[in-house]
Amino acid sequence: MAVLGQIILSSWVFMGLSLLMFAPLERLMPARQNRGRAPWSDWMYFWVNPTIGAWGALTFIALLGATIRALLPAWVLHWTAGRPVAWQLFLAVLLAELWGYWAHRLAHAIPWLWRFHRVHHSIEEMRWISAHRQHPIDVIWLIAGANLPAFALGVNLRPLAAFIVFERCYTVFLHANLDCSYGLADHFLASPRFHHWHHDAGEVGLNRNFAGIFSVLDWIFGTYHPPLFPPEKFGDAAPMARGYINQIFATPPPAPTLKQGRANAQSSGETSSS
Ligand SMILES: [Zn+2]
Ligand SMILES: [Zn+2]
Repeated sequence: MAVLGQIILSSWVFMGLSLLMFAPLERLMPARQNRGRAPWSDWMYFWVNPTIGAWGALTFIALLGATIRALLPAWVLHWTAGRPVAWQLFLAVLLAELWGYWAHRLAHAIPWLWRFHRVHHSIEEMRWISAHRQHPIDVIWLIAGANLPAFALGVNLRPLAAFIVFERCYTVFLHANLDCSYGLADHFLASPRFHHWHHDAGEVGLNRNFAGIFSVLDWIFGTYHPPLFPPEKFGDAAPMARGYINQIFATPPPAPTLKQGRANAQSSGETSSS
């Protein structure tokens, strides 16, 4: 419980910090002029998601992780516990990024998961606060999907908790209305422009650039799109209800698959994203 409390408290502190950091930056050097203010529903996600996400994901991780631990040979847990904290942090980050990539990719490929993840892809104007527009079940799936393996292997929870908080903070940066690219280093480390292409409303995005921090995973698994310039338009071709409650209980559209990609989604709803 102490770790859960620490995560929730840290999340709220970082949320406050991200508000102080990214809101002024977006005003100083915006990548584009957004049409207006963020919808009020984004503020609902902003306040509700860290608590629900942290609580739900931690409960899920604790229950399933304990089951997996019970099934693992004892030497695996002993071996992990015997490693230095820095080594355990490295293992936690490696596993979290690898599984986070696949959890995100599966959220696009499996219709039941896409029903929740598409809320995030309803973003039509990038803002730092857009990072929080996620269905609570999508938050739980992505956080749990990313961190369950490390927990099940018995990695020290404290560095893992610190990493989750950092990960969430970096996600806010990726969604900010900033045209920021790392040049060639985009192949290794995700930049805001790299992630903006994941939200592209054109034929390139949606099933590209899944990684949360290490874009090299997209390069390895064949989903990397080089962010040489910013995309023109954001959003999902399928229409999405507006407002927090409507989005949470939205009826699922057909899921775009990794094979079909954006082209099929567009052919079924060419003009719905504006
Ligand atoms: Zn996505
Ligand atoms: Zn995003």
